[in-house]
Amino acid sequence: MVMFVSIGVFLYGDFRPLSLLGLDSGSSDWAPMMGQRNSPTPGLDEGPEPLGVPAPLTELSSSYVFLHYNEGMPVSYSPCRPIHYVVNTDEAPPGSDALIDAAVRRISEASGFRFVFNGQVDERPAMDRASFQPNRYGNTWAPVLISWTDPETIPELSGDTVGIGGSTRVKHSSGHVGYVSGQVSLDSPQIRKIIRTPGGSARAIAVILHELAHVLGLGHVPDPSQLMFEHGTTLRDFGPGDLTGLARLAEAPCTRVL
Ligand SMILES: [Zn+2]
Repeated sequence: MVMFVSIGVFLYGDFRPLSLLGLDSGSSDWAPMMGQRNSPTPGLDEGPEPLGVPAPLTELSSSYVFLHYNEGMPVSYSPCRPIHYVVNTDEAPPGSDALIDAAVRRISEASGFRFVFNGQVDERPAMDRASFQPNRYGNTWAPVLISWTDPETIPELSGDTVGIGGSTRVKHSSGHVGYVSGQVSLDSPQIRKIIRTPGGSARAIAVILHELAHVLGLGHVPDPSQLMFEHGTTLRDFGPGDLTGLARLAEAPCTRVL
């Protein structure tokens, strides 16, 4: 089976504090790879139906955008398999586990996607991270890598950007496009400072939530009442547009081709 795997820029989006403005990050391009084994056995983790349902929406909003579309539909993970994630704690601040746990719980509740923690790893983040690493992770897509890192390792975290997040999409020869792996890279020195401020833990959780929403496929919106506001936010939780967008991502079909 011929697979087309995107290579190139894997990380999407960035997050800036409310007081600071800046341009958004760029986009990725397709780069087909053919003829070599660059993907796991398809559909290994896939169930017959979605593993969860999004929390009921109390307010519909059109204030959301998706990072990628395919034939008019948003690109998403399959909701019928868990999203595995691992954490690199090399530079983790105190209490980092609780911050990630809280963010993962919240986005899982909001979106219906099930996240499974596969442990701590020494894999370092990289913009060109491979989505299939059989030597490290076996016959499966590489789990989402959440890294506590710094701008020296990830230059995209330079300046006021406190986190970046996004996923790699893969196109199957049938035409189906889906996310299969992703990354969240957190600027540990900056988040340590945030945590020390009043209410800082909630702010840090909001940063992780924002980046995880990029991983699931949400882009930035020009609406300060959403957590995906393009210029950063003082919000601590998703707004109605964010939640509507997450619920739409959860409507993606099950797929056994990836
Ligand atoms: Zn962002």
